[in-house]
Amino acid sequence: MHTKQLINGELVDGASVSLPVINPATGEEIISIGQADDAQLDLAVRGAHEAFESYSRTTPAQRAGLLLDIASVIETHAEELAALESDNVGKPWPSALEDEMPLTLDTFRFFAGAARTMAGVAAGEYVPGHTSLIRRDPIGPVAAIAPWNYPLMMAAWKIAAPLAAGCSVVLKPSEVTPLSTLRLAHLLADVAPKGVINIIHGVGSSTGDRLINAPGIEAVSITGSPATGSAAMRAAAREMRQVHVELGGKAPVIVYEDADIDKLVATLRATAFFNAGQDCAQPCRLIVASRIYDRVVSALAEAASTIRLGAPRAAGTEMGPLVTEQHRQRVAGFVDRARSYAEIVTGGTVEPGGGFFYRPTVVADVDHHAEIATQEMFGPVVTVSRLTADQDPIAIANATRYGLASSLWTRDSGRAMEASSRLRFGFTWVNTHGVATPEMPWAAMKGSGHGCDMSVFALDAYTSVRHVMLAHG
Ligand code: NAD
Repeated sequence: MHTKQLINGELVDGASVSLPVINPATGEEIISIGQADDAQLDLAVRGAHEAFESYSRTTPAQRAGLLLDIASVIETHAEELAALESDNVGKPWPSALEDEMPLTLDTFRFFAGAARTMAGVAAGEYVPGHTSLIRRDPIGPVAAIAPWNYPLMMAAWKIAAPLAAGCSVVLKPSEVTPLSTLRLAHLLADVAPKGVINIIHGVGSSTGDRLINAPGIEAVSITGSPATGSAAMRAAAREMRQVHVELGGKAPVIVYEDADIDKLVATLRATAFFNAGQDCAQPCRLIVASRIYDRVVSALAEAASTIRLGAPRAAGTEMGPLVTEQHRQRVAGFVDRARSYAEIVTGGTVEPGGGFFYRPTVVADVDHHAEIATQEMFGPVVTVSRLTADQDPIAIANATRYGLASSLWTRDSGRAMEASSRLRFGFTWVNTHGVATPEMPWAAMKGSGHGCDMSVFALDAYTSVRHVMLAHG
């Protein structure tokens, strides 16, 4: 297994204490991997700093070439990378290979194109006798931190946009799921110029903290929990760095009385339990019009109860385990506390055996303000709350600090437009949920962060707008 880190162009073993990597489907250790020590981390940052001088001066076409080369090498090794992802995160094999890999590849290919679209917005004479140019230049070396739920795809989101913008990167994957990203490090060693991409391994509170505070870093980009986002903003505040945070979510699903219930339930079956619900955009909080509430609850419970749990590589498995035992206990804790005030319609049980499995769960009769309706669980649990005629679903949805994904279900397009204009979420789907494409922003608001991954707007986090003025005489 390839577990070396990519530091200033060299593949090296981590010199600090090893961390076990666990297979969540069995609870067994896959391998133990040394973390980067302080000297290695500092070398990675120095390497990124030195590489920035030359990489930031490459042409957009050269950056596009690098991004396309990265996509090619990932595509060539897609099965191997998907296998690592499946083993390390417990993803059903088809999800890792057929659902996630295409978006990972397309992210690099999209940003290869995006690299060639960057332009300033004006060139002209705004003061007599002077010509002004507006430039959009790479901001500097980027510290990038990724979460454990989609390790390779999140690595793609964290690497591709800064590379397109002309920035060098030091990326730290989650210490819980480093295997696919460390394999990527090996593949990139032959593709990326020295120091342009560095990949290190270590825990967030030490290695991650040192990285986001390291001298020489100009921008911090984090996808993770709100607590980690706050740590990034504190680090950025100390040195006046640019910071981009994509954090947790709690997606409301607002279901009006004219919704297509069959389509809603089929969509929720496919997306709410995808990746065992460990998804920042997971449709997890249903707010359902009273008239159709009972039908939605029973159809959803029926659909969830048929989801096949099992070993990630077993044929027919639709849902794997949660990522760690600690995380399973956290999810189970939310459901157990809800038993006193809501109804567990299906699921709510731990699966016996060595892995960290938890049954797909639907919790009904949930008050709009209940903990289980308002806090991110990040597990295979969906809550359903009744919407009475006197209640405004948009006000209910907007009342939390989360502001990432949301969806509306109605056949009335005017109502959908009016409601989506009032929702305070980075993205809103109408009559669908979870469909993503690199052209469109994965945008965050409020406590879910700011800015976006994907789309040309992702380049904003990694570029500075500059004014150059030339006097004619
Ligand atoms: P996490 O915040 O625990 O860890 C994320 C990363 O941050 C890891 O690499 C971790 O090592 C690192 N980290 C932790 N503390 C740090 C610190 N003090 N300084 C620097 N780095 C630190 O999150 P997680 O549990 O890995 O991921 C789940 C969270 O990520 C959920 O809240 C989920 O909603 C969120 N998420 C958001 C998006 C999005 O696009 N908005 C996408 C995926 C996941």
